[in-house]
Amino acid sequence: MKMESKIHLLLIKLLTLHSLLVLSSSQDFDFFYLVLQWPGSQCDTKSSCCYPITGKPKLDFGIHGLWPNWKNGSYPSNCDSTNPFDAFEILDLMCQMESEWPTLSCPSNDGLKFWSHEWNKHGACSESILDQHEYFLTALNLKTEINLLGALEDAGMIYKIHPNGSAYSVTSIRGTIKEARGYTPWIECNRDVSGNSQLYQIYLCVDSSGSRFIECPVILAKKCSTSIKFPSF
Ligand code: AMP
Repeated sequence: MKMESKIHLLLIKLLTLHSLLVLSSSQDFDFFYLVLQWPGSQCDTKSSCCYPITGKPKLDFGIHGLWPNWKNGSYPSNCDSTNPFDAFEILDLMCQMESEWPTLSCPSNDGLKFWSHEWNKHGACSESILDQHEYFLTALNLKTEINLLGALEDAGMIYKIHPNGSAYSVTSIRGTIKEARGYTPWIECNRDVSGNSQLYQIYLCVDSSGSRFIECPVILAKKCSTSIKFPSF
């Protein structure tokens, strides 16, 4: 082969390698958001909610999702349609899923639709690190570890924060969690039927292996009044 052709071939090989690297790293992500939801605020809205067929969820934050994110604020989604949600992969986690990741959508259902949506849209984007079983188990374990309601209710006398319909400052909620657990959470609010701003979801950041909480590399702008309601459930 002539020298010129050899260089040509080498260039093509380098270009192919480069495109493969770009393609594989485009599925990558920088960290996870663990998003926990207050069921009272999902239900006390104009669109209301439906309890799962297993009954009213316990009085606790529920998991909404574990979402891969990039540091620039955007996130990958629906990364792999060839690996759809498969309930058989998490049969051993079903009791915990029903208890910690309750569906509140209508009509009343068993939760498979919600979990399937979360895996297909978010979870599959982390499959190079966590398979389906690991993904759901990781979210369940992180939720137990952070025990948000415990952090709020066990706080010192001044900041004791209860889901009893009272209003609390966003700063005190964030500060209490930071003091109790060591990480600054981000708070998302929605509006109750009367239009009051209420505590809807809490975001915590987790490293890209799903093994430890971290301070959030990027925050999302979330609309909350200075003082927000923490509704009962
Ligand atoms: P995502 O696409 O992951 O941001 O999640 C948003 C979707 O999740 C919307 O369709 C919501 O209606 C749905 N959703 C949020 N919370 C719940 C819940 N507790 N139960 C069932 N669906 C939910």
